[in-house]
Amino acid sequence: MAEEKKSLRKKIKATGEMARIMGEYYYELDEAAKSTEKKVAWCSSVGPAEILRAMGFYVHFPENHSAMLGSTRMASELIPYANALGYSPEICSYLTADVGAYVQGVTPLSRAHEGIETVPRPDVLVFNTNQCRAVQDWFLWFAREYDVPVTGIHTHRGIGDVTDSHIKSVASQMEALIEPLERIMGNSFDPDELQRVVGLSRECSEMWKKVLDTAAAVPSPITFFDGTIHMAPTVVLRGTQQAVDYYKVLLAELEERVENNEGAVDGERFRLYWEGMPIWGRLRAHSELFAANRACLLASTYCNSWIFTQFDPSDPFNSMARAYTELFIVRSDDVKERYIKEMFDFFKIDGIIYHDAKTCPDNTNSQFGMPQRLEEETGIPSLIINGDLNDLRCLSDEQTNTNVEAFIEQLEEGK
Ligand code: SF4
Repeated sequence: MAEEKKSLRKKIKATGEMARIMGEYYYELDEAAKSTEKKVAWCSSVGPAEILRAMGFYVHFPENHSAMLGSTRMASELIPYANALGYSPEICSYLTADVGAYVQGVTPLSRAHEGIETVPRPDVLVFNTNQCRAVQDWFLWFAREYDVPVTGIHTHRGIGDVTDSHIKSVASQMEALIEPLERIMGNSFDPDELQRVVGLSRECSEMWKKVLDTAAAVPSPITFFDGTIHMAPTVVLRGTQQAVDYYKVLLAELEERVENNEGAVDGERFRLYWEGMPIWGRLRAHSELFAANRACLLASTYCNSWIFTQFDPSDPFNSMARAYTELFIVRSDDVKERYIKEMFDFFKIDGIIYHDAKTCPDNTNSQFGMPQRLEEETGIPSLIINGDLNDLRCLSDEQTNTNVEAFIEQLEEGK
C-alpha cells in the first residue's frame, strides 16, 4: 500500500542541486560565525535582508531554522524548555522551538551538515514586525542571551490600501538602520551594492513566481509540499546569484513537465489551495494523503509570500518598503479575500484547505468568518484543519485524515 501511494507523487530532480547550495550557505554562515573578521546578522524571514547582505553581513534566518526543527520533528520535545522560561505554550512555536533548541544545545544543522554544531552566533539581530510581534520578542530573547544589539522595523498591520505614508514610515525606518549597522560592521554603507543586491532579489522573486505559476497548468507540475521545500533559496538566499541560478534550473524542469503533460500527482482529479502555515512535521504524510486521494494541493498563500516583484534597484528603500508592506500577512481581510479569489481563478481551484495553526493566529485566516464569506461568494468549498506549524501535540492525525477524506468525497459529489 505504501509503495502504491509513493508512486503517485513525482520527485523533483533539482532537489539535489538545492541541497548543494543550501549546504554551502550553512557552511559559509558557520565559518563566518567562527571567524573574527566576518559578521553575522539574524533577520526575520520577511525582514530587510537586502540591506544586511549589501552591508556584508552573513544572514541567518531563525524561522528557517525553526521550520527545520519542525520538519525533523524535534520541535515538540523542545518547546517545553522555552515554556519553562516563561514563554507560553500558546505563543509562536517557531519561537519556543528555537529557544528550546538553544537551551538544549541542539540543532538539526548538525545532523545534515557534519562539523556544524550550533546556529551561527549573531553580531546583531534585525526584525520587521510586518508578520507579527512574536519575531520581536524572539529576537529580544536572543539579544539578551548573546549580549548583542537588536534593532528592527515596526510595520502597520491590517492595512487596506498601502499609502504613501505607510511607505514613507517603513522606508525611513530602513534608512535609519544603516548608521547603527555601519558601526557594528565597521565599514561604510555602499548604495551601489544595495542596488545590486535589490536587483538580484527582484530577479529571484521573478523566477520564484514563474516556478509557482507553473501550477496553473492542468495537471500541475508542482505541489504545495514541493513549494515548501523549494522555497528555501528565496527565503535565505534572495539577493544572491545562486538563488537566481537555482530557480532557472527548477523552472526548466517544471516547464518540461508541463510540456509533457506530467502532473506532480498521478491522475490529478482535484485542485486544492492551502491557506496558512505548513504543518512541518507532517509534510510527507499530508503529501501522501492528498496524492492517495488524487488531490493536488498545488498553490498557497504561504509560498507566494516570498514573491517581491515590487523591488526596484533604482529606488531601493521605497521599493523594499513597498514589497515588505504589501505582503498578504500585513493586510486587511478585504484585501486578503480579494487576493485568494484571484488565486482561485488563476490556479483553477476546486477547494481550499485552511490551517488553523494553534500558535500562529497571525497567519491563520479561518477564525473570523473568511472561509464562510469566500465560500458564499465563490461556491468553492472549504475545510479547516486544526493543527500547528511545529507543535505536533496540537494535531490529531486521525481527525485530519477523516476530515480530508470526507472533504474529497464532498468534492467528488460536486463534480
Ligand atoms: S508569523 Fe506566526 S509562525 Fe511566523 S513568527 Fe509570527 S507567530 Fe511565529
